Amino acid sequence: MMRILLVRPGYESIFSHMDIVTVEPLELEILSTVAAQAGHQCRIWDGVVQEEPYVPVLQKFRPDLVAITGYITQKNSICRYAETAKKVIPGVKVIIGGVHAELNYRDFYGPAVDFIVHSGGIKPFQKLIGREDLSPQGIGGICFRQDDETWVFHEKIQMDPDEIPIPDRSFFYAHQDHFHYAGLGPCATVKTAYSCPGRCNFCYCCLLNGGKYVCRDLEKTVEEIAAIDCDYIWILDDIFYLDPGRIRGFARLIKERGIQKNFIVYYRADFIAENEELIVLLKNIGLKMVLVGLEAFDDDRLGEYHKQTSCAVNEKCLDILKKHGIGCTGLFILDIDATKKDFDILARYVKKHRLALATAAILTPLPGTAQYEKFKDRLITDDPRQWDFLHLVAAPGNMRKGRFYFEFYRFYVQVLRMNQGKWLLHLGRAFIKGLRQKLSFMGRGNAKVGPS
Ligand code: SF4
Repeated sequence: MMRILLVRPGYESIFSHMDIVTVEPLELEILSTVAAQAGHQCRIWDGVVQEEPYVPVLQKFRPDLVAITGYITQKNSICRYAETAKKVIPGVKVIIGGVHAELNYRDFYGPAVDFIVHSGGIKPFQKLIGREDLSPQGIGGICFRQDDETWVFHEKIQMDPDEIPIPDRSFFYAHQDHFHYAGLGPCATVKTAYSCPGRCNFCYCCLLNGGKYVCRDLEKTVEEIAAIDCDYIWILDDIFYLDPGRIRGFARLIKERGIQKNFIVYYRADFIAENEELIVLLKNIGLKMVLVGLEAFDDDRLGEYHKQTSCAVNEKCLDILKKHGIGCTGLFILDIDATKKDFDILARYVKKHRLALATAAILTPLPGTAQYEKFKDRLITDDPRQWDFLHLVAAPGNMRKGRFYFEFYRFYVQVLRMNQGKWLLHLGRAFIKGLRQKLSFMGRGNAKVGPS
């Protein structure tokens, strides 16, 4: 039996203090369930919730293995958490996983890391912890460091979503007040599908699992949802079910089991525009909010992004959601080469459609995507914390950097004003809550973000 500490580093930006959207660490809950089923003792340490500083947890729990996941913005933190683990417990093994590691595993090659999972879902982790000596020989989907400090890469493997167990939600229930989507919550999360069949060239999600979109067994998914004691369920799939038969089956099972939940899902605009009847079916079983990647407001830009939709399709999608009273979060991209006119048109577009929730992300050319190839010679930062869709990571093509940020913040002020203060109130509350958490955490002797 091993002791395994599962770690999600905290976020390290001003926005992490604002508590606008906080997602439960579902991937760690799944790994914890896998490890417990194999007879190991597990503990989750979540830097977002920050119940207790990291180092005392390491000292008390004395793990044999530390597993750390995170996004690109947490790249440096992941390395620091790995180094801290090795310093506090010499001989501890460290394994890294998560979406950034899947395509950028080389970022974690270093003496503080022993294994990196780069594909295959839970399978490589499950196989590794099934061996007493943690020998990686013959396990696909991982890289590992040898005694001479060289790295060995084992071939990529595909995940089987049906291997994923129904996660033990003890961690969620103990901390559920933290987890919400823009004030809707507490909100639990479920994954029913992985990757995406779309090929938008700025998107990292469709590159995961070798670009193969896979869905979990319907009955098992509904069984998992039925067992969650929480009214809001955010389905975290990059895109929710596309197959009409599967959607009808999902709706039927939810109805048959008398499940009453409020669902939040991601969908493409063209799917909504072409499938009004299915959207109504989902509304009737609790669909409350759809996050839609509208991305741009002109067909040329949509074409540049390989979005395979059009402005007319986006309009139709918004009309359908409005007609049926389904909430919509419009997700837009502000291109690095945006002009002042682009900012103005976007603000007018959001106003025209009275989008209660609209987010504009600054185009962030994630390594691995085609947009990275386009912008790699114009990068202006190598600080991973800035790759959060809220910073310019490449030099803007049509205005100075300061002007770009001015227009970006002005856009958000316009959106906030349009919502008659509703969002301001939420942001104000969220900021105070985040600050309180931070202060109480510092009061417990940890004044710095990161391992301590
Ligand atoms: S942006 Fe959305 S639709 Fe496009 S590839 Fe990514 S997940 Fe799929």
